[in-house]
Amino acid sequence: MTTGFFWDERCFWHAGGNYVFTLPVGGLVQPQVTGGLPENPETKRRLKNLMDVTGLTNDLAAQTAAPAEWEDLLRVHPASYLSEFKRLSDAGGGELGRRTPFAAGGFEIATLSAGLSIAAVEAVLTGDLDNAYALSRPPGHHCLPDFPNGFCLLANIAIAIETAKARHGLGKVAVLDWDVHHGNGTEAIYYDRDDVLTISIHQEGNYPTDTGAITDRGRGAGEGYNMNVPLPAGAGHTAYLAVMDEIVRPALDAFQPDMIIVACGFDASACDPLARMLATADTFQQMTLSIKDAAADLCDGKLVLVHEGGYSEMYVPFCGHATLEALSGSAITAPDPMAETFAIRQPSARFDAFLREIVRDAADVLRTPST
Ligand SMILES: [Zn+2]
Repeated sequence: MTTGFFWDERCFWHAGGNYVFTLPVGGLVQPQVTGGLPENPETKRRLKNLMDVTGLTNDLAAQTAAPAEWEDLLRVHPASYLSEFKRLSDAGGGELGRRTPFAAGGFEIATLSAGLSIAAVEAVLTGDLDNAYALSRPPGHHCLPDFPNGFCLLANIAIAIETAKARHGLGKVAVLDWDVHHGNGTEAIYYDRDDVLTISIHQEGNYPTDTGAITDRGRGAGEGYNMNVPLPAGAGHTAYLAVMDEIVRPALDAFQPDMIIVACGFDASACDPLARMLATADTFQQMTLSIKDAAADLCDGKLVLVHEGGYSEMYVPFCGHATLEALSGSAITAPDPMAETFAIRQPSARFDAFLREIVRDAADVLRTPST
């Protein structure tokens, strides 16, 4: 089988402003020599470098893509937002939302990031590739049509879906978001629609703090086609796989998608600075195998993973490598150097039993028609 890997060095050149972690420099916040937003290029570039070092890149169809066209962006974002983004980008950069600073040329880099997602979806849909991974940066799942937030400037996945629908008549799409933060942008864009099922697994109350409730099920025709699975801080390997088995797979079986897209963040990992979960590289590998299985059974294997968050420079490369091994079926591995450390730190049996109960309750709630 052929797995595509879409990336572009220019995406690593997207630059945020003068921040220390998520705090703008100023007042009592001292500038940092190696500072900047946690959404920095290193996590992504180090993943690509690790794949080059092990040789995994050679087992994939690695390629870049054209930037998204203006008309592709317009399918999701209003012209007023795009024009203002482009104007500010040409003028040297700035900030149009919340925690989404960009430098000069940020607009062009964001359109390239969206373009990687478009190309990945298109190539899998037309059968040129069996499945694909898009190392899109900046990420997209928090971006609302007219309000960028959470490091996301364009809604990459929604732009790719709408472009594939317009150009190729793509039918039903399931978007599984396992980034540790709530996929509020994707949810908002598809909240009224029944042709795109959105499922988000996230740390409850992390980001955004006011979205992602299990009771938010969609509206109108979209009622029942949005699923939120908020998990308490500290959830680990067992809880994530239980969600895949008990909630995600039954939902996909019922929906019968024509394609599955994963908003693939690695920030549920056990050492991410922006969340408090305990997933490991093995967790991401098992989740990938699970969703690949679902795609094989339901939609001829049509599966695309689009990179979202993940802020541990040390660990994202190993989580990403494990994911791409599973996606491609390659025998080239990068053994997880933290496996033993994080295995010892998984939730205790007592807490895991509680987490399993939370997952069972969530499965019950989401199976029941909303009122
Ligand atoms: Zn995230």
